[in-house]
Amino acid sequence: MTQPPKTPLHPATIAAHAAGQSDPDTGGVVPAVHMATTFARAEDYSLLNADNVYLRSHSENTRMAERVLSALEKAAETLLFPSGMAAVAAVFRTVPNGASVVVQSQIYWGTTAWIRSFCERRGIDLHEVETADPQALEAACAAHKPAIVWVETPSNPWLRVTDIAGAARMAHAVGAKLVVDSTAASPVLSQPLAHGADMVMHSATKGINGHSDVLAGSLSVNDTEAPIWQMIRADRDTAGAVLGPMEAWLLLRGMRTLPLRMREMSRNAMALAEYLSDHPQVESVLYPGLPVHPGHATAKAQMSGGFGGLLSFVVRGGAAPALRAVGRMQVFQRATSLGGVESLVEHRHTIEPHTGIPEGLLRLSVGIEDVDDLIRDLAQALGQ
Ligand code: PLP
Repeated sequence: MTQPPKTPLHPATIAAHAAGQSDPDTGGVVPAVHMATTFARAEDYSLLNADNVYLRSHSENTRMAERVLSALEKAAETLLFPSGMAAVAAVFRTVPNGASVVVQSQIYWGTTAWIRSFCERRGIDLHEVETADPQALEAACAAHKPAIVWVETPSNPWLRVTDIAGAARMAHAVGAKLVVDSTAASPVLSQPLAHGADMVMHSATKGINGHSDVLAGSLSVNDTEAPIWQMIRADRDTAGAVLGPMEAWLLLRGMRTLPLRMREMSRNAMALAEYLSDHPQVESVLYPGLPVHPGHATAKAQMSGGFGGLLSFVVRGGAAPALRAVGRMQVFQRATSLGGVESLVEHRHTIEPHTGIPEGLLRLSVGIEDVDDLIRDLAQALGQ
């Protein structure tokens, strides 16, 4: 690592320089990939490097990526996991059998489905509540005294916005920890810990990596002594849900352009949201950057630099015209996931038909292409 700078750096500089991490052995400005799974001891059995015993516990590439994420998230510590879902599971595994949890309703379907099944197996009392509605959240906290309140903001694919500071107050009033899945915002556009969240979770598969070629997840906290964090850290170490060195290295490389990508994706998404809002074939547009969005004021207060690349809209006439438009798209690729440099489109009702998603809803993950190409593609696909 090079000497830390005297004045605090801005996120774009921290990211571009990988928080000052390079390769001290060769002078390379890019760190090496350290693939060794085990580390040698000297004749007197002392470790050659006191920080390294075995890769499951000690990965230099993982530590490097964690340092950058902590700096961007303004967190004291970050732990990486081999997927976003592994990070979700790490949090819920700390909940004692028989306790209760409050989880936002209609969030990423994979999270909901896994939490439901886990809570059932473990006898945990699960309450799904629309946390974007503060009254509903306050009532649920008061009635159920949860161990954890789980919020996803902006939510996928409904783009609902939960007031993080308000949710933190309500959770803390009953002794709960507030965990925020901030995947759609990325650590560039929002830092939930600064608004009172106890923990931030990301699917780093999405914007953080940004190139649709690494699966990873992260958890970040400020209170590194909290029992929940000690449990998560020990469990990752011994149960082994760790990221491989190559994935960690790729993540570090991807993050060098994270602020740049999030800015461009947000700008493109805003332009598409405005374009779609005026389109006769479009019933509604869900994007927190639009002043008419019910969560706009809250999003503006807790996000900065843009509203992200995730956007949903409802095509008039339901499933048939929506699927017809999807089939015609030439620049947007038909695929799940979000946060990559390439734009994607998804008909969520096909994936989760029983969760209340409107049949005409299309979810866009807006990339960094030229916005004119994206608008032209939507225009020809929608027939205008
Ligand atoms: N959280 C959100 C908001 C997501 O969109 C996803 C994946 O789509 C996940 C969590 C799960 O992350 P992963 O696919 O990296 O396991």
